[in-house]
Amino acid sequence: MQYQSFLIKYAEIGTKGKNRYIFEDALMHQIREHLKKVDGEFAVQKEQGRVYVNAKSEYDYDDVVGALCKVFGITAICPMMQIEKCGYDELREKVLAFVKEEHPEEEFSFKVRTRRADKHYPVNSDTINADVGYDILTAYPKSHVDVHDPDFIIYIEVRQKINIFTRVIPGAGGMPIGTNGKAMLLLSGGIDSPVAGYMIAKRGVMIEAVYFHAPPYTSERAKQKVVDLAKEVAAYAGAIKLHVINFTDIQLAIYEKCPHDELTIIMRRYMMRIAERLANANDCIGLITGESIGQVASQTMFSLRSTDEVCELPVYRPVIGFDKQEIIDLSEKIGTFETSILPFEDCCTIFVAKHPVTKPNVNVIRRSEQKLADVIDAMIEEAISGEEVIWCS
Ligand code: ATP
Ligand code: MG
Repeated sequence: MQYQSFLIKYAEIGTKGKNRYIFEDALMHQIREHLKKVDGEFAVQKEQGRVYVNAKSEYDYDDVVGALCKVFGITAICPMMQIEKCGYDELREKVLAFVKEEHPEEEFSFKVRTRRADKHYPVNSDTINADVGYDILTAYPKSHVDVHDPDFIIYIEVRQKINIFTRVIPGAGGMPIGTNGKAMLLLSGGIDSPVAGYMIAKRGVMIEAVYFHAPPYTSERAKQKVVDLAKEVAAYAGAIKLHVINFTDIQLAIYEKCPHDELTIIMRRYMMRIAERLANANDCIGLITGESIGQVASQTMFSLRSTDEVCELPVYRPVIGFDKQEIIDLSEKIGTFETSILPFEDCCTIFVAKHPVTKPNVNVIRRSEQKLADVIDAMIEEAISGEEVIWCS
């Protein structure tokens, strides 16, 4: 069936009191943006605290539902029939006809749930429930009512118009992008950071990203992998401005001058410093990483403390308490896993120590960094001024 409308359900944004319209407007804006990616014309409208997507042309159902499922802020998508207010007999006929189209199967359990927001409608909800239930049972003798665990619920909403639907498709949840500022994601080619970006974006935060590239030690294909991951996150988060920073000279300098067991931690500290510079220059008010406590040597509590201290912006680490498998499950769900496990390394093995420190002492690390004092500022400037920007959408 070509549904003419979709009812868009949202939860948390409904709780924002007087600011509610800001969230609803952001949600509608995001819905329009996502629908630009599919064929067809749609009107996204707000009516009495409800958001509707009305089709103005032919469209592909799977494409539209697929697009709506990636909009943060939506808890459910209900493809529906919307009719003008009509007499009661006509309403009963239309509901039955709709159910027949939606559910050609002969045997099912169901329940009817009516909400009469318009109290002027002459028949009350209980009566509508009972009468429509009777109509369905008569038309489908093998079906039965199950109020606790029905196969589906027939929803009838009597408002300015009447909404009728039986399908409730779960949405992505969260808050609409654009309601919570912007943050800079440190995006590598691994499994964790794309998931971290997704999780923060889900809370309504716009995302930019930075990737530290070390040619020729890391390949063009490794970079392409990061671009692909950014696009996959952008399918939910909206277009992502990806900053590609050439990190080779800085990595070589660290390798040459600093103790090898501290390489990773020092490298991570310079990544954070540069990421913060880019964040400040691009109106981002936080950094995001895919770190999880204890996953590797550079992610012990000691190491995290020492990477944290080099920047003033808050660092958001949404997968901090997740086990690897939990992060993998999420990456599979959002569709980044297959790209993440492609074999192109994001960090050359020659830059990884055989026995990295797991309890770095901040004072010792600071002293080691002093060995770079006369070259590092110029190198950071050069890396930043030579950035390549790639828009990923
Ligand atoms: P991921 O799966 O996200 O790559 P990881 O388990 O490989 O994480 P690390 O390599 O220790 O962990 O990196 C920790 C975090 O540092 C990453 O989640 C990412 O946010 C950031 N990071 C690491 N390498 C890079 C890079 N080359 N460019 C940008 N960010 C990076
Ligand atoms: Mg990694």
